[in-house]
Amino acid sequence: MYKRWLIIFSALIVVVFSFTVCSQIEVGKFDILIKNGKIVDGTGNPWFYGDVGIRGDKIVEMGNLARKTADKIIDAKGLVVSPGFIDMHTHCDSDLGKPSSNANLNYMTQGVTTVVTGNCGDSISLKVAATKAKWEDQGIGTNAVFLVGHGTIRKTVMGTEPREATREEIEKMKSILHKAMEEGAWGMSTGLQSIPDRFATTEEIIVLTKVVGEFGGIFTSHQRSEEKYMVEATQETIRIGRETGVHVNTAHIKAGGKSNWGKMKKASRLINEARSQGIYMTADLYPYDKAAVGSIEQNFNIPNDMEPLAELREKMRDRDLPEMERQQFREQYAEELVKALSDPVKREQIKKLTTEGAPDQSNFAVMYGWDSFSIVTARKNTHLIGKIISDLAEEQGRDPFDVAADLFIEEKDDVFTSVDTMSEDDMKHVMMQDWLMFSSDGRARPIKKKIDKPTPGHPRYFGSFPRALRKYVREEKVLTLENALRKMSSLPASFLKMKDRGLLVKGFKADIVIFDPKTIRDNATYADSHQYSKGIEYVIINGKISIENGEYNGDLSGEVLLLTENK
Ligand SMILES: [Zn+2]
Repeated sequence: MYKRWLIIFSALIVVVFSFTVCSQIEVGKFDILIKNGKIVDGTGNPWFYGDVGIRGDKIVEMGNLARKTADKIIDAKGLVVSPGFIDMHTHCDSDLGKPSSNANLNYMTQGVTTVVTGNCGDSISLKVAATKAKWEDQGIGTNAVFLVGHGTIRKTVMGTEPREATREEIEKMKSILHKAMEEGAWGMSTGLQSIPDRFATTEEIIVLTKVVGEFGGIFTSHQRSEEKYMVEATQETIRIGRETGVHVNTAHIKAGGKSNWGKMKKASRLINEARSQGIYMTADLYPYDKAAVGSIEQNFNIPNDMEPLAELREKMRDRDLPEMERQQFREQYAEELVKALSDPVKREQIKKLTTEGAPDQSNFAVMYGWDSFSIVTARKNTHLIGKIISDLAEEQGRDPFDVAADLFIEEKDDVFTSVDTMSEDDMKHVMMQDWLMFSSDGRARPIKKKIDKPTPGHPRYFGSFPRALRKYVREEKVLTLENALRKMSSLPASFLKMKDRGLLVKGFKADIVIFDPKTIRDNATYADSHQYSKGIEYVIINGKISIENGEYNGDLSGEVLLLTENK
């Protein structure tokens, strides 16, 4: 009898206890509840209907949460709910610390919630902890991952000397890199086409990449060639992956210049082969067939001793130069260049160097040929917009350099060209590879004001991700929505070995983007590159809403993510 009572009593306790716990869960509201959306979870799996419950900075519940409540309910009917985008290739570190651009709005409005910075061998600093403290003190709009630039390390140890590093110098580089990794850097980038990175042997890169490997970090490379030798350059990256066991990535993969079209397919085959041999390799791509956009004079090579142009150029290289002063130097430079181009002797010197190329100055005219240059903006000669420089030269029976030089004399910085580098066919081929992720190769820009004049430049800083979703998913159907979103979220996260971002799944960080798949679009163009994208209705970063109904609310909830905290 006593035993029976004990059983009944215990059962009662269990019932009461579970009731209390259940009601606590019922009472425990979410901070944010996203309802009725089509969930594309980032795995590549087909969409499904479901709700997402967020508490603090985490996704705490997913599924049918119709009976739950929250402080904030977002009705995502008709919209897609996906993990926030991770941009593997940016140069945002140069501007995230500035109060004018710390919101990183040109990325947030693309649905990007994490930017990987410090690419192409060039990072603003080697001090990761201090940079994190500075940025977070001021606040940053998106999360940021910090890579250390190989060029930055090399410059610190041996300047820009064009030679192999000594054993001692390599040891110094290793210890600088080691320190940065201890502070939470996520890996190392190279810019093997630039000074001083390009003076490094493959062996130097391998030794350093092994240091990154000790911490589980990654390696990404702006390869030694993006033109004639891009296939060989890809082989070098594969070798680095093979000999270090580190995750390696080809940055902004491209085969520039018409004579090199088709090489992307070869490189793509090599990457597939490497992967089948057990080498972890990926690549990222910005979805535009044009590369560098800039004032037409950027295609000229100016002799290093031609003053005052050389001195002014040196001054403008200073990264800490206030924007006003830079602008003044820029105007002065343009005036001086007009003078030089109007002087027959100096003009001839510039022409010779531009046509033949200079060993220490990269030159698009030599690399790609004048038939790759189209005019994207010209204030006085609007009828020339869209024209190719070599076509104009042929029409006028003149040398292409003279056409470009005279346009500059007439317009100064009001005439911009783009370099038409890539083949659309090549791009679509790599885009369809499982290991290809989307990126932007851009920078954080100041928040745009209504009165700002159109800014000619490359639209990828403002438009890359919405462009991929508009052009290659909705219009041309090269990729399914699910696959494209995987390339923007879980693939970069998987390359980076991130433990709690890149997917919509319970327990992961609440970095979420909600958009309209029917209207999402890029608005930035070559002539007006600072135009925000449209169609991103909500952006949630670390559980905080930053964009609501398409409008930025001023929130700065981004964090600098450290590899050492990726547990
Ligand atoms: Zn690069």
